[in-house]
Amino acid sequence: MLPRRAKIKEIINDNGRVKTFVLDCSIIAKPGQYVMVWLPGIDEKPISVSRADPLTLTVANRGPFTSRLFDLKVNDFMSFRGPFGNGFALRTVKNILLVGGGYGVAPLRFLAETALQKNIRPTMIMGAKTASDVILEEAFSELKVKTIIATDDGSKGVKGTCVDAAREAMEKEKFNAVYSCGPEKMMAALAHECAKHGVRCQLSLERYIKCGIGVCGQCCCDGLRVCHDGPVFDARVLKGVEDFGRLARGPSGASHAL
Ligand SMILES: Cc1cc2nc3c(=O)[nH]c(=O)nc-3n(C[C@H](O)[C@H](O)[C@H](O)COP(=O)(O)OP(=O)(O)OC[C@H]3O[C@@H](n4cnc5c(N)ncnc54)[C@H](O)[C@@H]3O)c2cc1C
Repeated sequence: MLPRRAKIKEIINDNGRVKTFVLDCSIIAKPGQYVMVWLPGIDEKPISVSRADPLTLTVANRGPFTSRLFDLKVNDFMSFRGPFGNGFALRTVKNILLVGGGYGVAPLRFLAETALQKNIRPTMIMGAKTASDVILEEAFSELKVKTIIATDDGSKGVKGTCVDAAREAMEKEKFNAVYSCGPEKMMAALAHECAKHGVRCQLSLERYIKCGIGVCGQCCCDGLRVCHDGPVFDARVLKGVEDFGRLARGPSGASHAL
């Protein structure tokens, strides 16, 4: 797939470490899919679609690639390939719970928007370390989605993790399905809670993705090619996967503990 080039028409500073880039183009994509953003001479990395029309990407400044993305200004160009990956499967259900940790909230915004178009009612739980780490609160409020914020230190919303908040929500209300994106250890704990409550759940995994088309094997999680078979997996598929929530391969190919 050849890269496309689009102009940045808006940059929203979500907090000191996260920015949202709105491009002057749209793509046909499913929530949970990602694009490979290419900075010529620097690198190419996966970023989830936060909105497809206009294409919107929410990026956390973590290392060499994302810090160069942060240098881009309105009217600069960004190149990307995609969308890639399977995306979330929205079944014909009524009531769904979305659980996002950190910038994992971004693809769930697109999922919430799509669910509303299908008359499915989403409830959003966003988890962050502190009040200043919360992102996209306004985007969810514009969609009029019921949103519960959980912060580790209690500086905003309820005190605790988004898994604590999800457990409480599932105890109070019956959800047909749970969808999540965020740190893998968090999602492993969430999958456990969902199993206890008998609720199906889909989780979007993050691995070092290089090719995006299932060829190079860099992103494998045991036998699963995250870039192509995922990044979204049913928790029942991940149940027998030894690396899930424990180990991931780094850029050199060597595994490290999560
Ligand atoms: C399917 C998918 C969707 C993604 N969507 C988004 C998104 O919407 N917004 C966003 O900000 N980021 C997203 N990412 C992560 C993003 O690709 C990485 O943060 C980015 O590649 C970091 O590159 P860097 O050169 O800035 O930092 P690096 O120097 O590569 O990394 C900085 C730190 O992050 C860790 N890290 C980097 N990439 C990964 C990874 N893939 N898995 C686990 N740890 C990693 C490194 O170990 C290091 O500690 C996504 C990743 C995947 C696989």
